[in-house]
Order: sequence, then C-alpha cells, then structure tokens
Amino acid sequence: MIKKITDFAVRLNCVLLIMLCALIAMPSCGGSQNSSSSETAENSGSQNGKKNKKQKTEEEEEYDEDEYEDDDEDDDDEDDDEYDEDEDGSDSDHSWIYEQKIGNAADKKVSATLDANLEPAHNTWNIGSAKKLEGKIYVLEVWMTSPGTSWSKNNIADMQGKIYSALDWLKNIAAKYGKNVEFEIGSYGVGAEGNEPGVIVENLPQSYEDVAYNAPVLPEALKTIGYPDVLSCYNYLKEDFGTDNIVLLQLINNDGWPCACNFSKGYSEYNGEYDDFYLESVNIFRTMKGEQCKDETIAHELLHCFGAWDMYGGQVTKEAAQWAQTYYPNEIMLGAYDLKSAVVSPLTAYLTGLSTEYNDWYLYFTRVDNPAMGGESVD
Ligand SMILES: [Zn+2]
Repeated sequence: MIKKITDFAVRLNCVLLIMLCALIAMPSCGGSQNSSSSETAENSGSQNGKKNKKQKTEEEEEYDEDEYEDDDEDDDDEDDDEYDEDEDGSDSDHSWIYEQKIGNAADKKVSATLDANLEPAHNTWNIGSAKKLEGKIYVLEVWMTSPGTSWSKNNIADMQGKIYSALDWLKNIAAKYGKNVEFEIGSYGVGAEGNEPGVIVENLPQSYEDVAYNAPVLPEALKTIGYPDVLSCYNYLKEDFGTDNIVLLQLINNDGWPCACNFSKGYSEYNGEYDDFYLESVNIFRTMKGEQCKDETIAHELLHCFGAWDMYGGQVTKEAAQWAQTYYPNEIMLGAYDLKSAVVSPLTAYLTGLSTEYNDWYLYFTRVDNPAMGGESVD
C-alpha cells in the first residue's frame, strides 16, 4: 500500500510539474464561509472493505520488513533522534512534537513575540506537521467513502482539479513573498485511474460535528491504510519523501462543512492526549450544502494547517472581522469567494511563515473558541 502511494505520488508529481506546481499548509476550521461554528477537527473512524484489507496486509508486510528496520538503522540520524522507538515499536517520548525548529534571528523574534502575546492554545506558528508555507511539502490525499458506495470518476476529477487549483494558488502566493514551494502529492483510495472506490469508512462523517475535535478518526483511517499509528505515519512519510512539512487531505464522499485539524503549542499541556493531532489534516467534503467543494475552501483549510487564523465574524469579534473587511476584503481567511482574486493579508503571511513583519493589529484576530483548550466561542 505504501509503495502504491509512493508510485502514485510520483505520477501525480510529474503531472503537477508539467501543469503547474503546488503546495500547502495548516490549522483550523470550517471553510471560507461565515459561520458561528468553530474549527479544528479530524478524522473519522474507518473500516476496511475486503479489497482494502488485502492491500493493507501487503503493505504492512512491506512496512514491517523494510521501514522499521531502516528506522532502527538510522537511529543516529539527527531527525530520528527526535523519535525514539522502543523495541516493541511504541513511542516512548513524544516531547519532540512540541519543539519548534527555529533557524534564524528573524524567526526567533517571531517566536518570542507570539510566545509573549498568545496563550499556547492559540500559538500555531511553525508547529505540527505542516510548519511553514515554504520548501518541499508533502500532501497525502485519503479518499473516504461509505460501504457500498464509491467516489465517481467525475467527482474524483472535479475534486482533484480543485486541489490542484488550491495548491497552485498557494504556490503563487508564496512566490510573491520570495518563497519557493514544491508540492508532492500522494493518494490513497481511488487508484491512479480512479478505478477504486475509496477507503471504506463504516461511519463516514456526515457533518462538521462528526470531524471537529475528533482525533480518533485519523488514527483509524491510517490503520486502514496500513500505518500503525499517527506518529508512525508522519515519521514514515518524512523519511520516505524527505520533508518534515506534511499535511493530509481527508476527502469525504459526503456533504458537510469542511474544517482543519491543526496543532498548537497548547497541546503539550495535556500529557500527550492530543499527540494524534500532530499530523495536521483538513477534512474536505465532496459537497457543502449541496454544492461542489470549492478550491478556495481547500486553500483556506490548508492555510490553517500552516498556521493561519480565521478572520471572519464568528471566529473573531465582529469588530475585528469588520476591520479585516475594510482593509483586506479579499483576504482568503476572511472568506474570499473567488480564488483568482483572493490574497493573504500581512497577518496570514506572518502566521504561515511567509513574512516576519509584525503589526500590533494581528492580535485582534486571536481565537478563543477552541473547546479542547477550554475556550469558548466569540461572536
Ligand atoms: Zn477557517
């Protein structure tokens, strides 16, 4: 299975290189529409169809025989020092996931500024698996569907086109800030020719509520594919694709409100309870209120994973949202409705690592509505 993902990733990557180029990012909630609901979310429980179970067996064998041995041999590597596995394969110390690699003086200033002004639960800069909108970024698509159903070729093509569009837009945005982004895409569930049904999920999410704040969905989905747990998946992908900048796209063959599952420094206060959120992901439903998912929604959610905050009313105060509407009406985190004209404000650029320029008004947009962190919604 993993080999299959790799092969498909290479194929898709070639397509991307020819057609455009792309990339991605990280944290929170529901799409680019106004709503009072909050975000952060996750995966859904999943079960294997007969076909998937067979593939899983093949992949597990390959994974067990090759990758774990490689991991052991690479224990002296700098990166692997962060992730020490016991002989039984369990992760004995997850503390590395809360540590940020900070390279230069400008970044140290950003980090110090955010640490001084934000609660840890709101601090999403350069942490989690999707760190900055820069460099090589690996995107893993997981196409999910209910038992007895399948992703249609038309819907796959439509969604894949939206994903490429979103990634291309993100790449172009990064380029405007002098950052080179290279997206590499892997896919699981529908096959290179769109001739597989998708990853069969027994209780496919039907709404935002089914995926928000629900970390167990991701581990179950990854087990279906063949990864023993979330951090093993992250470490495998990092090793295999040569980047620690990774994001998952959970594509759900259903109607529902999209959201992102982002990681914050605040999770370190919960004794590993939220470690499964480290591998950051977005939940994209095939349709939202009956309409096909939009490329600007995918771009918006991916930006959450890379650290961006919402800027629209319901997620921030009405005053802050109005301020953004006045000065940055086409900001994608405000809810831009057309990707062609959408931009990122200095705040979004700052949070996603595109810029280190700080302005005091950034703090107007601090989120306070993450239930997992004991916060409550603002209106
Ligand atoms: Zn959002």
